Amino acid sequence: MIRVQEYRPQAFTDFTKDENVKVYQEALAKVRQEIVGKHYPLIIDGQKVDTAERMVSLNPCDTDEVVGTTAAATKEHVDQAIAGAWKAFESWKNWDMDARARILLKASAILKRRRLEACAIMSIEAGKNYAEADVEVAEAIDFLEYYARSAMKYAHFGSAETTWFEGEENGLMWIPLGVGVSISPWNFPAAIFLGMLAAPIVVGNCMVVKPADNAGVIAGFIADIMLEAGLPAGVLQFLPGHGSEIGDAMTGHPKTRFITFTGSVPVGLRIHEVAAKVQPGQKWIKRTVMELGGKDALIVDETADIENAVTSAVQSAFGFNGQKCSAMSRLIVVDDVYDEVVGKVVERAGKLTMGTGEENANVTAVISQKAFKSISEYQKVGAGEGKVLLGGEAPGEHNGKKGNYIQPTIIGDVDRNARISQEEIFGPVVAVFRAKDWQDALDIANSTVYGLTGGVCSNSRERLEEAREKFEVGNLYFNRKITGAIVGVQPFGGYNMSGTDSKAGGPDYLSNFMQLKTVTERW
Ligand code: NAP
Ligand code: MG
Repeated sequence: MIRVQEYRPQAFTDFTKDENVKVYQEALAKVRQEIVGKHYPLIIDGQKVDTAERMVSLNPCDTDEVVGTTAAATKEHVDQAIAGAWKAFESWKNWDMDARARILLKASAILKRRRLEACAIMSIEAGKNYAEADVEVAEAIDFLEYYARSAMKYAHFGSAETTWFEGEENGLMWIPLGVGVSISPWNFPAAIFLGMLAAPIVVGNCMVVKPADNAGVIAGFIADIMLEAGLPAGVLQFLPGHGSEIGDAMTGHPKTRFITFTGSVPVGLRIHEVAAKVQPGQKWIKRTVMELGGKDALIVDETADIENAVTSAVQSAFGFNGQKCSAMSRLIVVDDVYDEVVGKVVERAGKLTMGTGEENANVTAVISQKAFKSISEYQKVGAGEGKVLLGGEAPGEHNGKKGNYIQPTIIGDVDRNARISQEEIFGPVVAVFRAKDWQDALDIANSTVYGLTGGVCSNSRERLEEAREKFEVGNLYFNRKITGAIVGVQPFGGYNMSGTDSKAGGPDYLSNFMQLKTVTERW
């Protein structure tokens, strides 16, 4: 029996212990020997398919280094992959739910055995330090375990409640939608990539998946594990490629039934629009599940435990260089404690070490040259919109290595309507606001179009309860950091422009990928 009650999140690794550091470094060496430089072709109908073009993945902390390559799918590959996926759907949809779930559980077992390798790849390919990579692979395993188990509640006719009615049997039946497209971001290239494909697949859909072009190697590694675990040919079609070239073909295809997307607001809205247009031969309204950007705020009031607030702010802002959708990019401090809190945050953030993921630095390089340009531009914009309290530079190299290095940057006394207050920067740049009082702080927090994560550090019960009602975000945290949602524990997803609030890792997430049929029999 597969039971949801048996789900337990993976424990994290303690890197203050020398033995854990040592095995991590051994994994880095192994990955350098066995995986760095590897090429990952497309996978269509279980066959590896190569292309003339190769997409190159670079180490962001040392951009002279090529981490690996992937093939680059074309529109013809998209057509083939979607057709093949529909063929596979004919039998996959009829598998027993528990048999499908066992494939996820087997994949989880393989990933647990290869956990350190997956971490090491991300240290090299995405610049994740040990703890950031470790919690991400833990999350990837959690998604497999949790979705496999939560699928059971959709397994049988009548498993959703209906009201008894004399003389009839009535019941609801959950059925998969068909072939979906999954398009994922580079910032959680293992966990989000895997979660977004595993969830629809376990409930009987077949998926055409496109990873982000900056993190193709870890995606190829994960796709191989899913196939090794026994997914039949065509259930998972692996299509690395450029979003700008094949994105519209994937989302606009008449045979695409649904789209699950995680990424930025502009690309998400583009997909939403393309998906809304009905194509010749299309016979359904496409469903879109969107997890988009954020402009996440942490409020600190005059009743807060200051030390805890400072720790929460620094962790939320600069973990993985602020490249998390949940990262704190706005710190809102009530005037009474502004100088003390901001002074301490600046001091603490100033002590963060810079270096490579492999060196386990606190702050590493941002993912790409494109991100580097955009973030460093915002540093300049920010310098004109407030007072630079920390950082402000983008050296573009560190210890003799060329890389996308950007200093952790804190800008004080920013206006709530400034560009750096309203636009997602997606890097280590924080805008700080001086709020007149608690009410003003809450107003500032709700003053963007986003609504992903947010937090309050306060010891006032009344204010926490008010924030519970009025703080417009999908994930609200009190007296702790605002990042690091755990699968099953803190179901994740945003409001407003931050997404369709699908709540990944939540009890009803799988229903995003199914439809219901009501069946009535008169006795
Ligand atoms: P992005 O630029 O929006 O790209 C996301 C994905 O969309 C990539 O695979 C990209 O492909 C693809 N894409 C680009 N153009 C497309 C098109 N026209 N049609 C279809 N797909 C297209 O985002 P990112 O830089 O990878 O990730 C960072 C963003 O993701 C941030 O905004 C962050 O807040 C958000 N995010 C949100 C969540 C959440 O749960 N809400 C979680 C993580 C990240 P290429 O890589 O080939 O361009
Ligand atoms: Mg890279």
